[in-house]
Amino acid sequence: MSEPRRRFAERVMHLAPEGAYEVLSKAQALEAQGRDIVHLEIGQPDVPTFDNVAGAGIRAIQEGRTRYNPPRGLGELRQIIAEDAGRRRGIEVAAGEVVVVPGAKPMLFFPTLTLVEPGDEVIYPDPGFPTYAAMIKVAGGSPVPVTLREETGFAFDLDTFDELVSDRTRLIVLNSPSNPTGGVLSRDVLEHIAEAAQRHDAWVLSDEIYMRLTFDGAEAPSIAALDGMRERTIICDGFSKTYAMTGWRLGYGVMPAELADRMALLLTHSVGCTATFTQYAGLEALLGPQEQVGAVVAQYQRRRDKLVAGLNGIAGVSCQTPQGAFYAFPNVTAFGRPANWMADYLLGEAGVAVLPGTAFGAGGEGYLRLCFANSMERIEIALERMGEALGRLG
Ligand code: PMP
Repeated sequence: MSEPRRRFAERVMHLAPEGAYEVLSKAQALEAQGRDIVHLEIGQPDVPTFDNVAGAGIRAIQEGRTRYNPPRGLGELRQIIAEDAGRRRGIEVAAGEVVVVPGAKPMLFFPTLTLVEPGDEVIYPDPGFPTYAAMIKVAGGSPVPVTLREETGFAFDLDTFDELVSDRTRLIVLNSPSNPTGGVLSRDVLEHIAEAAQRHDAWVLSDEIYMRLTFDGAEAPSIAALDGMRERTIICDGFSKTYAMTGWRLGYGVMPAELADRMALLLTHSVGCTATFTQYAGLEALLGPQEQVGAVVAQYQRRRDKLVAGLNGIAGVSCQTPQGAFYAFPNVTAFGRPANWMADYLLGEAGVAVLPGTAFGAGGEGYLRLCFANSMERIEIALERMGEALGRLG
């Protein structure tokens, strides 16, 4: 019998696992040996899906809402998303401009596949969510990373951005609040990017999945609300982070109707549609009480304050205060070791699972990412153990 062919298509050969899952499996191997590990590597809410939302999903299944629905989502949900997403950003959105997908990730992949031709350049943040580089390469585009600078609150280095943006730029990917840095892009920075996008006729894919998770009363403005940007922006958002629904798989995009129509065809032939009962849970998430979102964000803020203060109290570590999302991104360059080494050291020596900044691109060298969607008690244990282990490094 002959061996099956092992040669895979070029478009998948560059793909690698997400760093968070790699560290998680190393951490789990240590746990299997009886070690206690504090998990600060995975980025998801530690709270369960809100009761009213979970209940709506269960009811939908019991009521038989388990059949196909339109590729771009239930009309009722798209209408409510249009109102909610528009109101929060100060823009008018029609249901025809909304596309529902299984999680936010497809709302990164599908617009990229719809817009980017082989060879087209795509600008994206480095460090940034690893799916950006993956989707650009799968689409055959040329990835053009722009480094985020700590000194500017982790905004694009605008001098580099200005050098790299050109008529070859087809798409500019933004993420505010940012994973992994927790940075929020100011209106000034967005205006600078918007002007360049219009001058070079580029699209903007604005990943706003953490939009509701901002601290100190700050808001994360959307580039879609700036003059002339609606017609060239795709907003990517979803339910995973805001409503603690990571496993339900529910996300959406807001984009010009023509693009929505074209992308819906891609959905028709790939996912078919998003789970029907999941969308009923999403409807309840948007229409039901919102107090829990505020309560969870307030809780994240207290944990952020504890973690950031604790990190800054460790000699050699310096950590900016993240303005959004649930990640701290401390600078550990003072230790003179690669981020990867530092993350392995903290896992092995302190029993604290963190990600190296390089899991988010070369621009993350010298940094670690710690998720503070974890209990205050576990964060305190992590700080104590990290302080001790890093103290030994000198
Ligand atoms: N964008 C960013 C910046 C994220 O951090 C994540 C989740 N880690 C996603 C998109 C994907 O979200 P979802 O799980 O809804 O696909």
